[in-house]
Amino acid sequence: MECKKVIKLIQSFMQDEMTVGELEEFLQHIDQCKECQEELTIQMLVTEGLISLEAGEDFDIKQEMDQKMQLARRQILWHKEMDWLTLGIGSVSMCIAILLIVWLVI
Ligand SMILES: [Zn+2]
Repeated sequence: MECKKVIKLIQSFMQDEMTVGELEEFLQHIDQCKECQEELTIQMLVTEGLISLEAGEDFDIKQEMDQKMQLARRQILWHKEMDWLTLGIGSVSMCIAILLIVWLVI
């Protein structure tokens, strides 16, 4: 993913409006790119910081970022596990179907 696209996606990231595929590429890029990391921090500071300020809460950008990143990573992991689960259920149903056919034929 290019920096331009990552910057564009920051807003979607903060509003949790990204697909898991996008999210994975996005995080991969953020991990490696200092400039986009900075951009994300600034945008988060502006958006989330203002909300917290209005609510009169303390705002710790580092903690907020860590939390958001962790949540996103968990989302990706969960999605992958679900893929495996679907695959597993698929194979099991396939085996049962084959066994049934074999049983019916014999
Ligand atoms: Zn970048």
